[in-house]
Amino acid sequence: MVLEAGGSLLREDERRELPKLGPHDVLIRVAACGVCRTDLHIVDGELRHPKLPLIPGHEIVGTVAALGSDVARAREGDRVGVPWLGWTCGECTFCRSGRENLCDRAKFTGYDNDGGYAEFTAADERFTFPIPTGYGDAEAAPLLCAGLIGFRALGIAGDAERVGFYGFGAAAHIAVQVAQSRGQKVYAFTRPSDSHGQEFARSLGAVWAGGSDEVPPEPLDAALIFAPVGALVPTALAAVAKGGSVVCAGIHMSDIPSFPYEIIWGERVLRSVANLTRKDGDEFFALAAKVPLRTVITRFPLGQANEALAQLRAGRLEGAAVLLPAE
Ligand SMILES: [Zn+2]
Ligand SMILES: [Zn+2]
Repeated sequence: MVLEAGGSLLREDERRELPKLGPHDVLIRVAACGVCRTDLHIVDGELRHPKLPLIPGHEIVGTVAALGSDVARAREGDRVGVPWLGWTCGECTFCRSGRENLCDRAKFTGYDNDGGYAEFTAADERFTFPIPTGYGDAEAAPLLCAGLIGFRALGIAGDAERVGFYGFGAAAHIAVQVAQSRGQKVYAFTRPSDSHGQEFARSLGAVWAGGSDEVPPEPLDAALIFAPVGALVPTALAAVAKGGSVVCAGIHMSDIPSFPYEIIWGERVLRSVANLTRKDGDEFFALAAKVPLRTVITRFPLGQANEALAQLRAGRLEGAAVLLPAE
């Protein structure tokens, strides 16, 4: 597949080492790329089958700079977002039943395909989303995974009135705003004694914030776990009321310790949430256009990607890290 770069949006020197475009691909000049915990799991070798060598990054905001031969929708100059879901087969039982997030042959951005820790990237336009006006490039980047996965996890938790968030990082800080827009009450659980994180959660409207070793003042109807800590599963199960659900939203978690049956008895539900569908994205960005979501970000020049990952690993970031190629 040959790149048809013809556009005036590319400088002569930029045309030389561009990614190859498939027929449905657009070339994207990256404006911002968020740093997700999944990137850390990939870099640390905790996810087993990344393509190697690999450019990570799946929270990409940028401008379309060139079009593949069969691109139908995108135009040069459009601002688009590229999420984790990069391609699905459209043929398997999952794809044909509205569950393309589970497609056996799915390709993921920054894992199977090169991602956005780069000045340019290529993406299948059918899996990109327009970014609502009103969001800066860097502010929009965390919406592409942290925002989307939190949105899907909240959807799976249903219309729970009291929702607990275990792990108050990039995903939770956006999801609590979505929850509040629906009238749900937010309970935030941070690392024990992280009073700064608890203050951050209260500033975003949590009715209660405490350490993950604390018991909430009232039983929860649902709990979402964003921290990659399996020991939080029995903790969260013990905190939800009968009929409540615990949703694990991360792609990787340490082993879950055994627990007594009585804490899942009473029709409590434990499940995971995996990836996203394009329908999730359409719904989430429609919501983000209506409800202004405030993303708290720390900006890093692209050259400091390793520093951003180190700060995420150490739990020193508030909100989300975002890499900026132009800085
Ligand atoms: Zn499929
Ligand atoms: Zn992610």
